[in-house]
Amino acid sequence: MRLRSRLQGVFEVLVRCSEKNLLVASADLLSQLWQHTGMSSSTVTVIAGPTAVGKGTVIARLRELFPEVELSVSMTTRSPRPGEIDGVHYHFVSEDQFAQLIDSKQMLEWALVHGKYHYGTPRGPVDDAVRRGVPFLLEIDVVGVRQVRESLPGARFVFIAPPSWEVLVSRLVGRGTEDPAEQERRLRTAKVELAAADEFDVTIVNDDLELAVHELAHMMGLE
Ligand code: 5GP
Repeated sequence: MRLRSRLQGVFEVLVRCSEKNLLVASADLLSQLWQHTGMSSSTVTVIAGPTAVGKGTVIARLRELFPEVELSVSMTTRSPRPGEIDGVHYHFVSEDQFAQLIDSKQMLEWALVHGKYHYGTPRGPVDDAVRRGVPFLLEIDVVGVRQVRESLPGARFVFIAPPSWEVLVSRLVGRGTEDPAEQERRLRTAKVELAAADEFDVTIVNDDLELAVHELAHMMGLE
């Protein structure tokens, strides 16, 4: 971490010199130095996309094919659904515990999702994965994505999109895990998320699962 802040210092001095060419060259130099330290956050891939787009399925299939890929386990204040295991699918915490994690700076990012529950990424496992240089995935909402972009600018940002709005609605209704009020809330959030697609480095349309997974694997440099 000390090396990282020293590199950032060097970068800031170069930015202050701020000739455009120098700026571009220094960004390139920084990224090369970063790679040599083995502490590049380019091993981190952040995935977002609207409800029911199949992010979970894409990630599960990717990890079947590439077991070396690790996945962040988020904190959430919502209750577990049937079959969800604490510490595996999420860390289920109270609102008080969540607030304490924020206060003690243990969250990389956090957001109130669907206007209802808090979700966030614990910082420790991300730092650890960056140190070890292993491919690491975060699956979070677009509010969280904007925070990670600030703190881990070297990460890759991938948006998973549905083939169409109609397909998204029928997937959400078809899976039947939410009541109509919750479906409506999720579809409202989905519109906001879809509008943010161009903030991402790449959009993968989840029309064909295998194609989507290979596109993601390629983007992460796994194949
Ligand atoms: P669900 O309640 O269906 O498990 O998750 C709802 C949404 O919460 C997900 O689609 C995802 O966008 C978001 N989410 C899950 N974990 C995190 C997290 O750690 N941070 C943020 N910002 N959003 C998350």
